[in-house]
Amino acid sequence: MRQLLAVGLLLLMAFSGCVQQGGATVTPTPGSALENEAEAAFAEARKEMVEEQIQARGISDPSVLSAMATVPRHRFVLQGNLSQAYADHPLPIGHGQTISQPYIVALMTQHLALQPGQKVLEIGTGSGYQAAILAELTDQVYTVEIIEPLGQQAEATLKKLGYNVHCKVDDGYYGWPEYAPFDVIIVTCAPDHVPQPLIRQLKDGGRLVVPVGPPGHYQTLWLIERKGEQVHSTNLGGVLFVPMLGEH
Ligand code: SAH
Repeated sequence: MRQLLAVGLLLLMAFSGCVQQGGATVTPTPGSALENEAEAAFAEARKEMVEEQIQARGISDPSVLSAMATVPRHRFVLQGNLSQAYADHPLPIGHGQTISQPYIVALMTQHLALQPGQKVLEIGTGSGYQAAILAELTDQVYTVEIIEPLGQQAEATLKKLGYNVHCKVDDGYYGWPEYAPFDVIIVTCAPDHVPQPLIRQLKDGGRLVVPVGPPGHYQTLWLIERKGEQVHSTNLGGVLFVPMLGEH
């Protein structure tokens, strides 16, 4: 992390698209020494993030650790927060929304137990970071965002990085019926009750991870497993997410 802060200015220059050099403004070429150095510092910070924030807190699923070690989180944060991209807390992404703390992303992803080839739905695309993590685990990722500029930006970021994720701007309370049923559903904003449309869009044996609670308060993270017409809920502990928007 220290190393990352030390090259903070370098990173800003490399990713803001222009650099002052001897009075002239130049655009760093992709693959330039400047960009390579910045990417190396981000890779180092990402490795530390996985070891110190994620493994150290008990996340052990190798596929989750590998996904967290692979996805370039710095490509999903705002320019002004580049030096904190791998820090142990959430970050603002605009429109009053946040990209979750890395540990929370890893914890929720581990509880999904997502297998290659399974179909997963995310509600709350935000920056697209969680969707990229899911895309490292399966090639069937669907994500819904209610705030149009965020949804569009995330779709562009994911495409640029080569992730094949199906994005839609809509109220995710109602899921994505056209592609249901899903093996796994993850909700990254907090409704005040479990959205029944999401339960209906789960496959038999499917898993839903959702924070539920009143807006502005700590919520309970639930793992809900569907067995036939029965659901089994497990309390995974207290979390703090932005509220789910919309009238339900
Ligand atoms: N998963 C995101 C972080 C999510 S922040 C990431 O990795 O960056 C929660 C997101 O849920 C916000 O972008 C917010 O706009 C979105 N959201 C809130 N209510 C929603 C709803 N009803 N349907 C879909 N998205 C919603």
